Amino acid sequence: MERFSQTVRDEVARAPITKCEYCIKAELAAIFHIAGSIHIAGQHRISLSISTEAAVVARRVVRLLKDSYHLESEVRVEQIEKLGKLHRYNLMINSQAGLHEMLYDLGMLTREHSLERSIRSELLKGSCCRASFLRGAFLAGGSVTDPQKKTYHLELVTHNEEFADGLVYLMNLQGIKAKIGARKDQILVYLKDSAAIIHFLSLINAHTAVIKLEEVKVIKGLRGEVNRIVNCETANLEKTLHAAWNQVETIQQLMRESGIVNLPVKLRETAELRLEYPEASLKELGEYHQPPISKSAVNHRLRLILEYAKNFSSEAGIYHQKEKQ
Ligand SMILES: [Zn+2]
Repeated sequence: MERFSQTVRDEVARAPITKCEYCIKAELAAIFHIAGSIHIAGQHRISLSISTEAAVVARRVVRLLKDSYHLESEVRVEQIEKLGKLHRYNLMINSQAGLHEMLYDLGMLTREHSLERSIRSELLKGSCCRASFLRGAFLAGGSVTDPQKKTYHLELVTHNEEFADGLVYLMNLQGIKAKIGARKDQILVYLKDSAAIIHFLSLINAHTAVIKLEEVKVIKGLRGEVNRIVNCETANLEKTLHAAWNQVETIQQLMRESGIVNLPVKLRETAELRLEYPEASLKELGEYHQPPISKSAVNHRLRLILEYAKNFSSEAGIYHQKEKQ
């Protein structure tokens, strides 16, 4: 998992636990539905295990279980990478009084001990509880791409299509439009829009992540603006240079054909200066004249030179005719 994603998950897992009883149940329900498995041994020996790669998530579940159902649990750590960097935390809730009640409450077991996968609507009545449910879903199966990267992406992974539909519905109720996709045997609920991701993250109390995302968004916007300006200036510069080289070539051609001698002195001065300073701007070129002339005067003279050159072979002297008009 990406570092940014881990940071967000850690922040969410450390968020204060609300006083609302249904908030706690809603958060547990989402976590259990995504990351939990029920084991039934015999008629009354039911246990539940939750698997997560994050110690903070395991610790939060332990607290939530204590605060709501007063259930005891134990955490077993398993190494899942040879170098020992990555661990899996298996939270075991062994057979005990109150476990069946909880699994029924959270929509994972019927009264008759058969498995089910439903979300009890009473857990999702308050908007605080719906946000808690989404928080649980993010803790158990969520990840978010570093906003510095090219595209924005937040996803919640589940293995159940109905559950994914439920998540989309809940997000919709909060004004967040999510999409559903599939990857191998996983169902993804995902967001691609930065505003929707910011909305989702603030809903689940990932406030530092929200600030970070907003900052990056501003920087990305500024960078885009700077690029636009630079591109525009580069285009103008290229146009200017192209025009200058065109002038130089024309003047050189005129010199080869000895047409330059027919140019009035003032135009000749400008033509010679242009040859000497091919990359000078019009303003700079004006300053090289004796006495200096304005940028628009240089522009005017260069236009006359080009026009003169164009008509040189057929109509020598067009400059004088033009001048008289
Ligand atoms: Zn609530």
